[in-house]
Amino acid sequence: MGWIGLDDTDSLDGGCTTWDFHKLLTLIEGLDYVQVKIPRLVRLWPFAPHRTRGNAALSCEIKLPEENIFEFIKFLDNWFSKTYSKDGDPLSESHPTLIWSNDQPPESWYWDSVRGYVNPDLRLQDIESLSHMKCWYRNSNRGIVGASSSIAWRGNNDWTWEATAWRERCKIGTKRMVSNSRVLGMSELFVDTILNRNPNMHKSLIAPRTPCPVLYGIRSETADSAKNAHNWLQEHDDVERAFSMRVHRSNQATDDHILGIAKGVVISKTTEVKGGHASISVFSNGRRETLVAFKQGGLVNTLLRESTPGDVVEWRGIKSIDGCLHLESLVVIDSVPRNLNRPKCICGNRLHRQGKGQPLLCSACGNTSFSYWLSDKFSGEGKWVQPPPEHRRHLTKPLNRQSKV
Ligand SMILES: [Zn+2]
Repeated sequence: MGWIGLDDTDSLDGGCTTWDFHKLLTLIEGLDYVQVKIPRLVRLWPFAPHRTRGNAALSCEIKLPEENIFEFIKFLDNWFSKTYSKDGDPLSESHPTLIWSNDQPPESWYWDSVRGYVNPDLRLQDIESLSHMKCWYRNSNRGIVGASSSIAWRGNNDWTWEATAWRERCKIGTKRMVSNSRVLGMSELFVDTILNRNPNMHKSLIAPRTPCPVLYGIRSETADSAKNAHNWLQEHDDVERAFSMRVHRSNQATDDHILGIAKGVVISKTTEVKGGHASISVFSNGRRETLVAFKQGGLVNTLLRESTPGDVVEWRGIKSIDGCLHLESLVVIDSVPRNLNRPKCICGNRLHRQGKGQPLLCSACGNTSFSYWLSDKFSGEGKWVQPPPEHRRHLTKPLNRQSKV
């Protein structure tokens, strides 16, 4: 029994952690004394410094007899030095890290690094204090946090799946052929697949735009539907043939990075920052907080702009390095009246206030009325909003998705 974890092999020249991990697992599957369990693709804190693209780390449970562990560690040692030797690939900006562990480390390692910053030096100390863990790293130890946290992830309460398909080596860097309408068809046929398209834009979201070895990733609530959707895509001529595919268990779309729903009262008007970003101040839990919605946040940005001092709002968000809360979803649960106005007189003229305790007066005809206001109810009240799927974080749970447990 044991676990392996890999992180930070991404590089601008085509390095990709999912691909490297797939190649490693394929080699391990060739060892006759080993059984490879379900690989896992784990996303971590979105604001981690030096994070790799999407900040994903890979891990897998490996079953092998006790007496083969030494031999297996030797195998990992050879693979790492061969794959990431300085003479091999010009690994300019990648910091590959591989970890072996006889047991899963404490689950807190995962929660610490999906919800905040973990110092790689401190994590390395923790690893070195445990006799059953071994790690290999090149260039720096920054991949330690991801690789170890991926192993530490339990995912007992919630998880999703991703079928990751990779391209032929000669195709890497060329335009991906993944038909938009075919992906829309896939989403309708395989109802357990999630987040693979923007339903309003009729746009496929499964293929990355970077020149990496990934052809596409199909997200799903079940492993079977992820695999079947991939097989179905591959039967069609308007989708590029994949070189290989593997289904990963994942923490994507689980909201694991979020502590929960927070609540506050709006205490400022909207400030527009350059580029269409908007922010407001709220009073929440006895302190002032700044809520930020990016232009790409779509309906979240719109709702934030429409909120007004006095509105009671709830949100999910994460605190960025500068202390602002970046919104991932937002709702106005109790709104102050909008468009306050005095009523009109029967002659059509607007009544106006004369003074404290005085009736309203029409300056055209001299009519009077008792004093009151007209107002509109805010039409956006009670509706949770979220950015469009292509501008959500990998970890963000869609509003219509339920946790598994
Ligand atoms: Zn009048």
